[in-house]
Amino acid sequence: MTQKRDYYEILNVNRDADADEIKKAYRKLAIQFHPDKNPGDKVAEDKFKEATEAYEVLRDAEKRSRYDRFGHAGLEGMGIDFGDLGINLDDVFGDVFGDLFRRSPKRGRSLQYNLDVTLEDVIHGKEVTIQVPRIESCPTCEGSGAKEGTRPTPCPQCHGRGQISQSQGFFTMSRTCPRCRGAGTIIAEPCQPCSGRGVVRNTRDIKLNIDKGVDTGFKYQLRGEGEVGVNGAPPGDLIVVIHVEPHERFQRDRNDLITSAKISFVQATLGGNIEVDSIDGKEELHIPPGTQWGAHLRIPNKGVPHYRRSYSGDLVVRVEIETPKHLSTEQRRALEEFAKLRGESHQSEHGGFWDKLLGRHDDEDPE
Ligand SMILES: [Zn+2]
Ligand SMILES: [Zn+2]
Repeated sequence: MTQKRDYYEILNVNRDADADEIKKAYRKLAIQFHPDKNPGDKVAEDKFKEATEAYEVLRDAEKRSRYDRFGHAGLEGMGIDFGDLGINLDDVFGDVFGDLFRRSPKRGRSLQYNLDVTLEDVIHGKEVTIQVPRIESCPTCEGSGAKEGTRPTPCPQCHGRGQISQSQGFFTMSRTCPRCRGAGTIIAEPCQPCSGRGVVRNTRDIKLNIDKGVDTGFKYQLRGEGEVGVNGAPPGDLIVVIHVEPHERFQRDRNDLITSAKISFVQATLGGNIEVDSIDGKEELHIPPGTQWGAHLRIPNKGVPHYRRSYSGDLVVRVEIETPKHLSTEQRRALEEFAKLRGESHQSEHGGFWDKLLGRHDDEDPE
C-alpha cells in the first residue's frame, strides 16, 4: 500500500483551519470529483474517496486531535469504518447536487412574492388574497406518482434502499441507485395528471393579513406555503415582501405622515385654525401666531400606526405661505400703512409703473 497523504494537504487547508473551512474545502473537492459527475474516471473517484476520508477524520474533534498528535498511526484501532462514512452529503452539498440527488428527500423550495400595498392598507390593516403559482403534491396520487389504485413497488436494483454500494478495497462507497434515482421505489403505471412525477404546478389563493404599520421591505414568512418537498421532506416557505406604493398626497417618514398646507400671510402672522387633509378625512390644525414658511406643525397620533402597538405617529404639516398677487387699492394702502408702522422703508412699485407708462426708463437715467 502506498504512503498515505496528509489529510490537511489533501483538503488543502492549514493545520489550524476551523470546522467551517474544512467543510468548505471538502465540499469543493467533493463537487469536483464526485463519481456521479465523473462516471468511469478512476482518478476522480480516488480523489473523492481520499478527500472524504480526510474530511471524515478532520471534522471529528477527537479523531482530529489524535491525528494531529500521532498522524495516521493515531487513528488505528479507533474503529473508523470508512465504508460507513456517516457524512450527510446533503448537509455538505446543499443544493449543488439538486439534480444528482433529486429523488432523495429534499426540502421544498421557498418562494418569494413581492406584494404592492397602498399607504391606506398599512394604516388600516387589510386582509389580502394573493395568487401564488407553486409546485404542489399531486392531489390525484397524493404525491406517489403511481396511477390511482396502484402503488409504487420497491426498486429491484437497490431493494428499496435508494443507494447502492460499491466496494473498492477497504473503502465502500454508497451512491444513488441509478434505476430509481434514490427513491427506492419504481412506478409501473404512472399517475396521469402528474405524469408520474408526484407533483403538479398549481396556482393557489393564499390569504394574508397585512398588519398596521408595516413598511416597505417587511417580510412575512408563511411556513410550509412554498413548494412541496421531495420524498417526504417538508415544503419550503412562502416569503411575502411588502412594498408600500408612494401616495400622491402623503409621504411617509417612519410612522409620521408628511403633507403640506397653504396659509395666507395674515394667518401666518396672526395665527388661527385651518382644516387640513388627513388620510381619513379632515383635521383641524392650529397655526400659532408668527408661523414661518416651511414650519412643521404636528397633529399627534394621525400618522401611521406603530407595528403591533396601539399608538401612531403624527401627521406633520409643512406650512407654505401664500403671498397675495393682486391687491385692491385699499388693501395696498393698509399694507403700506402697516409697513410704515413697522418702520420699514418701503419702496412702492406704484411709481415705477407710472414712470414706465410715461416712457421713462431706468436706462434713460438723467445722470
Ligand atoms: Zn399524480
Ligand atoms: Zn433503486
